[in-house]
Amino acid sequence: MLNLILFGPPGAGKGTQSEKLIAKYQLVHLSTGDIFRSNIKGGTELGTLAKSYMDKGQLVPDDVTIRLLESEVNKHPNAKGFIFDGFPRTIAQAEALDAFLAKKGQSISVILSLEVEEDELRQRLTERAKSSGRPDDADPAVIQKRIDVYKNETLPLKQHFTAQGKYQGINGIGEIETIFNALCEKIDKVKNVVAK
Ligand code: ADP
Repeated sequence: MLNLILFGPPGAGKGTQSEKLIAKYQLVHLSTGDIFRSNIKGGTELGTLAKSYMDKGQLVPDDVTIRLLESEVNKHPNAKGFIFDGFPRTIAQAEALDAFLAKKGQSISVILSLEVEEDELRQRLTERAKSSGRPDDADPAVIQKRIDVYKNETLPLKQHFTAQGKYQGINGIGEIETIFNALCEKIDKVKNVVAK
């Protein structure tokens, strides 16, 4: 199985690249942000809880997020692999994912990290607010909070993944197609190893 983590700050392009990657590699795309948003739309209890954190730019608590992710993975017993987009975002989530996959005799193949500097992120998210309809894109203070939460809670994962020898950084600035090709190059290398 090919299990990819698409990693990077808010606005790095994880969603855009995921769309292209699932088409090429036929993987199941699991975006915790998308799942929370569809729960908000559907008016579920989980949606109400998630919204109370998301609107402030905070992370949804680990226990809720981990349980959700595991149940989503379990919905796809025949998957060729997964793209985890926006998960894990904390060390606790990363450890839970490792343990959960290990129980199934699986593991993460590679962490693909889209690297984009802060000024560019702020610009992209402000621009995205015009069409995304996302309340968390519309408020500069919430955008800043998400960037700060990323730096404090999520970026430490870089060390965690590097220690596992699985972290691959990719320049997230440039043409969508160029970035996509850079991602594919990294994935194909890992795929060859997995296939052997
Ligand atoms: P972006 O990366 O552009 O901020 P996402 O859709 O990935 O967008 O996430 C939106 C929000 O959903 C986050 O700010 C957070 O509140 C919540 N969220 C998404 N994934 C997680 C996660 N793994 N852990 C905790 N909260 C999450």
